Amino acid sequence: MDTANQDDYFLSYEEVEVHKLMLKDQSRTKAYQKFIESNKALFEDKVVVDVGAGIGILSLFAAKAGAKQVYAVEASGIHELCREVIAKNGYADKITVLHGCVEDVILPDNVKADVIISEWMGFYLLHESMLNSVIIARDRFLKPDGVLVPSAANLYICPVSMTDFYNNNLRFWNSLYGFNFSPVASHVKQKMLTAPQIELLAKEQCLAEPERVLSLDLKYVDREDVRKIFSHVKFRLTKNGLLHGLAFWFDVEFDGDVPSLFSTGPNCEETHWKQTIIMLPDALLVNRGEEFECTVLAEQSTEHPRRYNLSIEVPEDVEEDEAEVGEAMNMIS
Ligand code: SAH
Repeated sequence: MDTANQDDYFLSYEEVEVHKLMLKDQSRTKAYQKFIESNKALFEDKVVVDVGAGIGILSLFAAKAGAKQVYAVEASGIHELCREVIAKNGYADKITVLHGCVEDVILPDNVKADVIISEWMGFYLLHESMLNSVIIARDRFLKPDGVLVPSAANLYICPVSMTDFYNNNLRFWNSLYGFNFSPVASHVKQKMLTAPQIELLAKEQCLAEPERVLSLDLKYVDREDVRKIFSHVKFRLTKNGLLHGLAFWFDVEFDGDVPSLFSTGPNCEETHWKQTIIMLPDALLVNRGEEFECTVLAEQSTEHPRRYNLSIEVPEDVEEDEAEVGEAMNMIS
């Protein structure tokens, strides 16, 4: 990974605000806490490596659950606060903070880990490409019978209706104080089509049951497996309405005596990941019971390996919504 990208990435994690956002995300943080507290046997007297410790929350959970030794690996400047917080809570003897990339750090006496814990997930699961670092940590440090927390991850997509979003961002510009601002609408629309939207959707906005496009067992996943994801998906629509885009979200599975699942879907408690939506150029008018097919491509960018290029291809014979297309054209003309 090129070093300039790498430096910017770790600089962003130096900011306390970024960590505050994650710690404020209770559904995320409590999912880890609950799993660790309900599966103490996994941690008691064990060696744990926390990949990307941030300010140390997962290391603290693991130490509190009885880990013999936790190695909190953190590459960004936040490692200093992490060390202070750990000492303040009386865990300095149990948690060793290692400043550096997990790809490079050396564990004392080349000790092997019983458990690797990490919160590596980005928008649409793969953004940030931090999974690659977890894979490397697994291959470097994990005992053959060791455990990954979380142990699996799945990516889903679903056709969604986003009428309010469409109205707020595009129709809003139709007419303002007696003037026509439609050039702004067409500018916004262009931008909307080049970058995915991060929005919070309600489950009522889903026009079908989601389809899984990726399923990863973290014990065995290889970096090649997540370089390019290509999937042809077919939905049976469950509602009539306007289809504005395809939403991505993910869940992760925690495997133990008391297994659990943490989802970032629209039918679950809100998280800071929200959902990632690829908008279609024009809304499609769809009916309940119809089939809707599309091809999804998510490919790691060679220029910015921490990002993915996401695209959706929809067969050409799908009926566009006349009214919607008409109004969109009016706005551009
Ligand atoms: N575990 C913390 C922080 C998660 S955010 C929590 O759950 O709140 C991810 C963290 O991993 C960031 O602080 C980032 O700097 C760190 N990180 C990402 N890639 C890393 C790598 N290869 N080596 C070490 N740290 C890394």
